[in-house]
Amino acid sequence: MKNPLNRYLWFAGLALAFAIATGCQSSKNSSDAACCSMPEPTRTVGIVAIPPTKESQAAMTPQSALTELKGGNARFVAGHPRIRNNPADVKATASGQYPFAVVLSCLDSRQPIEIVLDQGIGDIFSARVAGNVLNDDILGSMEFACKVSGAKLIAVIGHSNCGAIKGAVDGAELGNLTGLLAKIKPAIEHVPADGQPRNSKNLQFVDKVSEMNVQLVMQQIRERSSILREMLDNGQIGLVGGMYDLSTGEVRFYSNSDK
Ligand SMILES: [Zn+2]
Repeated sequence: MKNPLNRYLWFAGLALAFAIATGCQSSKNSSDAACCSMPEPTRTVGIVAIPPTKESQAAMTPQSALTELKGGNARFVAGHPRIRNNPADVKATASGQYPFAVVLSCLDSRQPIEIVLDQGIGDIFSARVAGNVLNDDILGSMEFACKVSGAKLIAVIGHSNCGAIKGAVDGAELGNLTGLLAKIKPAIEHVPADGQPRNSKNLQFVDKVSEMNVQLVMQQIRERSSILREMLDNGQIGLVGGMYDLSTGEVRFYSNSDK
């Protein structure tokens, strides 16, 4: 440190580190204020978010779980995700998990659901399949998530410009994909004719089918699982649908009642 240049570089480095640290903090606060009116995360140690615990999961409601997902998407869109310590989260969740929601979403690489909802290790159960269709195994997984593991909310999230929906509206056939796309056919039939083309070139039609598919999957969850239906009727869990916009990163949530 005797060399003046070395000393200068050392102080400059220290000042830069301080600026980055304080900048991160102030930018986080301003983003919370600017991007959403969601409450500050309760599961934090300092400014680092941590996975749900048995107690924090039990304290959540279907509504607070939805608020958490909405807040997470708002943080993602604003470019200010929560700070996480993944190695610490791995250790904290090794002996047990208490996720607050189960999310069914598409296989699409542009909709990595934990990232777009700003959720980390141990936060949510995630089921992903092309076209976010429902089958018995996914339904069983949801029953496990809610009845056994205490999740408070089921979310079904489709997305714009979905390749699986496009394949279904065009009647594509390919190996095992044919059977998967057949599960989307009822959604196509439920979208009323409006004189416009009903194929993948009409992106408005594709997105309408995606939304209808989410609605029908929500109905199927209620109809096909007596366990989940009872929990929904008792208010123990909630059920919400949503559409993710590939061009903005935003999830527009809606429930059965307000759609
Ligand atoms: Zn898709």
